[in-house]
Amino acid sequence: MLDKKKFYINGEWVSPNKPNDFEVINPSTEETCAIISLGSKKDTNAAVDAAKKAFKSWKDSSKEERIKLLEKLLSIYKKRYSEMVDAISTEMGAPMDWATDVQTATGQSHLEDFILRLKEFKFDHRFDTKSNNHICYEPIGVCGLITPWNWPINQIALKVVPAFATGCTMIHKPSEIAPLSAMIFAEMIDEAGFPPGVFNLVNGDGVGVGTDISSHPDINLVSFTGSTRAGKLILKNGAETIKKVCLELGGKGGNIVFADSYPNAVRDGIRNVMSNSGQSCDAPTRMLVERSIYDRAVKEAVDEANLIKVDHASKKGNHIGPVVSKVQYDKIINLIQSGIDEGATLAAGGPELPGGLNKGYFIKPTIFTDVTNDMRIAKEEIFGPVLSIIPFETEDEAVNIVNETEYGLGNYLQTEDKEKAKRVARRLNAGTIYINGNGADSGTPFGGFKQSGNGREGGVWGLEEYLEVKTVTGWPS
Ligand code: NAD
Repeated sequence: MLDKKKFYINGEWVSPNKPNDFEVINPSTEETCAIISLGSKKDTNAAVDAAKKAFKSWKDSSKEERIKLLEKLLSIYKKRYSEMVDAISTEMGAPMDWATDVQTATGQSHLEDFILRLKEFKFDHRFDTKSNNHICYEPIGVCGLITPWNWPINQIALKVVPAFATGCTMIHKPSEIAPLSAMIFAEMIDEAGFPPGVFNLVNGDGVGVGTDISSHPDINLVSFTGSTRAGKLILKNGAETIKKVCLELGGKGGNIVFADSYPNAVRDGIRNVMSNSGQSCDAPTRMLVERSIYDRAVKEAVDEANLIKVDHASKKGNHIGPVVSKVQYDKIINLIQSGIDEGATLAAGGPELPGGLNKGYFIKPTIFTDVTNDMRIAKEEIFGPVLSIIPFETEDEAVNIVNETEYGLGNYLQTEDKEKAKRVARRLNAGTIYINGNGADSGTPFGGFKQSGNGREGGVWGLEEYLEVKTVTGWPS
């Protein structure tokens, strides 16, 4: 079992102010794989003090200096890639191939993309050719970064890297459920040689370190990815000191499959929603199918779901792993039961453990058909391998159903009619609209409408989150 009880503060691994052990559970085996510490207010204060002190000089570091350190971090990331894969697979149940090819790869691609954007970014420029006004972008200060467990290194890289790139200093609190990848990343940052205090890591839970960060008077910005529930609390806590609060929250994506969609659209939709065991904020968890192809689509969807294997994360292959924890497992089973109780048709999967598995938080790929948008399974974020299929008759009806949710993170549409694709993409309310299975490129902005959040991560938009903008008049030419 790993002993990971120390925090990274002011360039050193230090013991917590007072012991408060917490077991990290491997969701495939239900066994403890590591012990971490949950921090206290004193630990958070020590990290914030270090970040505040380091900001005095780091804010004036040159772009070239920051690029050099980020390039060093990237080369260390590549060198220690397999350690990151093992950590993610163990802590949150990503099967080895998925952890290697997708989860860990996101950390590398964000590093590469932010280095590129930083090279191009102008921190200073004339307002326009007729003006003597000047625009200056300056680092906002000390940042509190709070991340979830479902795409651990993806979320960490989307916050830590732009904070470094813009000259901010920071305290990071990863999810207590999946902190191992974050601790390896902190080791890499240490190895890269960032000045002491620029980056600090304190483990803890939401009510403890999370709340201490969101209410800390010396933190200028909080960037949070996680549930809408926690996002609301963080926003309220930050209000007292008018912190900038960037929120990346939950989702309930709709996927409109029109009758003229490409041949594999339904099967791709199933693979998409079940990947990462359904634990993606922008997963297309409501599939809306045009009535004229409904029966065929349901048959294909059930067939595809039944082809997906569920197994241990330590194994290689294209199966899905467990969900992250007992708490999540119970919540998902409860929602599956609610679908049955509310009268949806259980067409694949269900609440029993998948065959051959009697331990671990495994859930069968589950499909409900004949779902209506007022059922809990259509309204609430399930965060498991569960899909609701809803029939529709007209384009207007489909758009209304998709938009009829408090969330707005990612929506999807499938049609071979080019004009309809553009028209519907404009009408759907979400930060990202995916047409015909096309993915978002590195450096595009990611974030939500409505209660899915208010921030944008990635690319130039991700850098701008960490910058104040200053207008200076009469700039001497
Ligand atoms: P969570 O909100 O329970 O926890 C996320 C993080 O916040 C953890 O580090 C946790 O310790 C901390 N936290 C919890 N309560 C807090 C509080 N009151 N104050 C401060 N910090 C607090 O979410 P989770 O279960 O870890 O993650 C899953 C959620 O994250 C889902 O809702 C998912 O949709 C969302 N998510 C969103 C995005 C996005 O970019 N929009 C990406 C990934 C995940």
